[in-house]
Amino acid sequence: MISNTNIKSGVYIKTFGCQMNEYDTEKMLLLLSDSYAHVHTPEEAEVVLINTCSVREKGEHKLRSLLGKLKQIKQLKESVVIGVTGCVAQQEGHNLIKKHPFINFVVGTHNLSLIPSLTKAAKDGSAPQVAIDYRDEWEDLPDGFISNSSVRALVSIQRGCNKNCSFCVVPNTRGKEVSRAPDEIERETRLKVRLGAKEVLLLGQTVNSYGRDFNPKYPFERLIEQLAKIEGLERIRFTSPHPQEVRPEFIKLYKDIPKLCPHIHLPLQSGSDRILKLMNRNYHIKRYLKIVDLLRGVRPDLAITSDIIVGFPTETERDFADTMKIIEDVKYNLLYCFLYSPRPKTEANKQFRTTDGVLHDIASKRLQQLQQLQEDISLNLNKKSIGSSFQVLVEGHKSKISSLMKGRNIYNILVEVLGDNISIGDMIDVVVEHAGPYGLRGRYPSVSVCNG
Ligand code: SF4
Repeated sequence: MISNTNIKSGVYIKTFGCQMNEYDTEKMLLLLSDSYAHVHTPEEAEVVLINTCSVREKGEHKLRSLLGKLKQIKQLKESVVIGVTGCVAQQEGHNLIKKHPFINFVVGTHNLSLIPSLTKAAKDGSAPQVAIDYRDEWEDLPDGFISNSSVRALVSIQRGCNKNCSFCVVPNTRGKEVSRAPDEIERETRLKVRLGAKEVLLLGQTVNSYGRDFNPKYPFERLIEQLAKIEGLERIRFTSPHPQEVRPEFIKLYKDIPKLCPHIHLPLQSGSDRILKLMNRNYHIKRYLKIVDLLRGVRPDLAITSDIIVGFPTETERDFADTMKIIEDVKYNLLYCFLYSPRPKTEANKQFRTTDGVLHDIASKRLQQLQQLQEDISLNLNKKSIGSSFQVLVEGHKSKISSLMKGRNIYNILVEVLGDNISIGDMIDVVVEHAGPYGLRGRYPSVSVCNG
């Protein structure tokens, strides 16, 4: 007879937003793993968590629509515990419970470790709880916290942000910048490498200001050197550095550390100095372009990606033309382009009136133009790879039904691979046969072509 005592209930987590949220979701699953197993639909779960994002208004719409569905599930199964976490939770706190009284708890970005006790309290019938206090210290993981054996390890090195870009909610939702102890970062990375990770992606809002809050300071560059010594770790990446914080030592990393992948995500946001000033980005276009030159000087094959906001209040045709020009000049490998989304409690939201906003139709047209330009640039750059061989770290299947595998080359370009006997975690040499604007496709083992 099979005993039921070891069968765990299910936990479902819906994650919106950035890689920092993905990392927090990993933490939550592990924090609950003594009692709950990860399931893939809310219907199967006894605990449902929504890890929210408030960077754009769209994220909040998605939350509202998911809560509508969860309300129905709760009506059918009263025992299910529903928690809201992440940036919207931090921002809205008690309001979420007022608007949606069926939510059992709301947990902000600094209080994830409370989730197991809040879940238990909810199961025991306690009233809805809200935990959104900021903490100055790093909320570290319980001893033994390790991720599943993903080949790409996400490791957080920094929380919060001191920059106050006028459009951004992060300083409100994640608080002041706090760096994580270097030895803790190394410990987590080593554990994940022991479990099969070959690549680490270090996460922070402005990674290159890491360690300035320590006394004495601990430079970001020293952290990278420390991690590069880990045996078995083959690739190091990070996201995102801030242009204002780029120093010569940072640029030198791309020359000195072979494990550092030749890719940088360097957010630009706008190609107009006037708009950058209104955004409070603290750099000029001239300085940004100088950084790009210096980086390419030490690593000519460097892949560069960026973020652009289109339709920031008061953006004129001239400002937009400046942005298009920079995109043409830099020739980014990929761009993440967004329409400006006014967010509560941000400087831009306080500073501008509705009449300062760019009309939605105009902003959407600009966005389309920008995306088209970037697609052409990306396609042209990717086409140059046809016939070349790249080392690809295989991360998984392209989709549930596809036999194609997918991974990334050192430039962080997505590569789909056709071939036999390929396993997740393999580092394989793939010859590129096809290029699109968003990735490459190749074959393994590579077939040598006889021209004779
Ligand atoms: S650097 Fe600016 S955009 Fe990035 S998280 Fe900080 S405030 Fe937000």
